Amino acid sequence: MNDQRGFRFPWFALILVVLLYGFMAFTMRGSSEEAITAQGIEQLVESPEKIDSVLVIASEANATGSVHIKTGNGISYTASLADTGAFTEKLDSKNIDYSVRVSSGFRLGDYMPYIVMLIMFMVILRVMTGGKAGGQMMNFGKSRARLAIRTELTMNDVAGMAEEKGELQEIVEFLRNPKSFVEMGARIPKGVILVGPPGTGKTLLAKAVAGEAGVPFFSISGSDFVEMYVGVGAARVRDMFEEAKKNAPCIIFIDEIDAVARRRGTGLGGSHDEREQTLNQMLVEMDGFSQSQGIIVMAATNRVDILDPAIMRPGRFDRKVVVSKPDVAARESILKLHSKNKHLAGDVDLKRVAQTTAGYTGADLENLLNEAAISAVMEKKAQIDQTDINDAFIKTGIGKEKRSKVISERDKKITAYHETGHAILFHLLEDVGPVHIISIIPTGEGAAGYTMPLPDKDDTFITKQQLKHMMMAAMGGRIAEELICEDVTTGASQDIKQVTNIARSMVMQYGMSDKIGMINCNEEGDDVFLGYDIAHNKSYSDEMLSLIDSEVRALVDECYRAAKEMIIAHKEVLEKSCALLLEKEKITGEEFAALFN
Ligand code: ADP
Ligand code: MG
Ligand code: ZN
Repeated sequence: MNDQRGFRFPWFALILVVLLYGFMAFTMRGSSEEAITAQGIEQLVESPEKIDSVLVIASEANATGSVHIKTGNGISYTASLADTGAFTEKLDSKNIDYSVRVSSGFRLGDYMPYIVMLIMFMVILRVMTGGKAGGQMMNFGKSRARLAIRTELTMNDVAGMAEEKGELQEIVEFLRNPKSFVEMGARIPKGVILVGPPGTGKTLLAKAVAGEAGVPFFSISGSDFVEMYVGVGAARVRDMFEEAKKNAPCIIFIDEIDAVARRRGTGLGGSHDEREQTLNQMLVEMDGFSQSQGIIVMAATNRVDILDPAIMRPGRFDRKVVVSKPDVAARESILKLHSKNKHLAGDVDLKRVAQTTAGYTGADLENLLNEAAISAVMEKKAQIDQTDINDAFIKTGIGKEKRSKVISERDKKITAYHETGHAILFHLLEDVGPVHIISIIPTGEGAAGYTMPLPDKDDTFITKQQLKHMMMAAMGGRIAEELICEDVTTGASQDIKQVTNIARSMVMQYGMSDKIGMINCNEEGDDVFLGYDIAHNKSYSDEMLSLIDSEVRALVDECYRAAKEMIIAHKEVLEKSCALLLEKEKITGEEFAALFN
């Protein structure tokens, strides 16, 4: 770790400049003028026929000066003179023409190399510091986040997100009055990490926390560090924390933290060292200040899975707030918020717009309204009407098909049944967690919806029954589709993969099949959960392989039958939950559990 403080001399830039200067000086002299000694000059003037022209530059102050001689073959020579008077006499005696210029001592040309060098030094500095510190060398390494902003945004500017706002309320209170928290001995997280897909309002939320608390907001983006040279990123982080300490209470916001805090030793790209140094510096800084200083570090990312686990340790980013895509109610309030300063015609029903925009983020919705406004202006209308919204819908919907696809009613319904199928089993089976959230809002990763269990146990060993329950819960989605729709869909492929993997592990690895017993058929010792290919397993007899197959099948069939029975027995829950999901798009574990009464 580098402990140098403040100004750090950019050795790299200096070396580069010196090398360039050397190269330039060499080429310039070499091609246009050659420096020679006084003896060389003597020799030259001995053969006047070779000389084209002679220029003597005499110093105003004394007898010294220099001579520049151009020869017939195009080469020029220069030498300094101790006595210009003696030299011109000699030229006269040889009958060589010459001109004399009196120099006042200062000639720009003499200083040109130094000026060029200085300019180049500054240019390189500018490039290295991303353009902000150009010229002001003493500012080198100062963070771009130096100037904190005061934001006017408040929680009222964030629509929906009731839960997220609630989770951040204590941070706001703490920043408003850190002292009372410290006196009470209450521990407040140092770091809060906001996790969610792009455009869901993470930056907005962080700013709103600062605005609501009325504290300065320092922000920097992880991607800023990526193009930097070694040492610069770390220096910036240090400067930013230093500045923040002076302005506490305040918020430091690190956007796109995944760019620096990627799991160490992974990923491609050259600036590895730099990223690690920056990350280390960040961790050192976070460990270095105490909660009583009133600084909250907030960070945002859309990829929590690739983050270095070190940043999530206690005393660092120990609070995680998940910011998900808005549900239908949240979408309506986002639309309302962003249409406040727009003139909407009477035929625009924002509720209806919200219903047709499943999967849109806050940013998408804002964009939708903006496109509608543009369309209204283009049509020279006084108000935005439903046709403008429809136009914008087509524009944004098609333009971003991948990220926020418009979901058809049919797909929504299938997803609702599918997810409820999982949820019923999660709820009924004691060895898999109760349901936490069911959602039919498409995720960024391409899933149409999800059911999130909340395991209430934290056991090390997984029992045989637990594995069976996991298989049953995974089958629930497909079973619900079978029971309700006439046909099944391709939506269950991940579930099927999971079921197969569990069943194979039970038979081949965990000795949970009576017919095979405690034999490990898993040659390479790798985890079957991770997708083991049975075809590679060559050291067993054909009988053994077919026994494995039949045992795996028996397990899967047994679980399937049991799971189907349970869902059939709760068909009315299936219907009720599906209806609720279609209405709200996202329901909590409690809401779901209430359907069983
Ligand atoms: P992220 O940082 O998660 O990528 P931003 O905070 O930059 O998203 O959001 C981009 C824009 O989308 C915001 O400036 C705001 O206009 C709009 N937006 C997103 N979510 C909301 C929300 N919940 N309420 C109001 N506006 C939102
Ligand atoms: Mg952002
Ligand atoms: Zn599923």
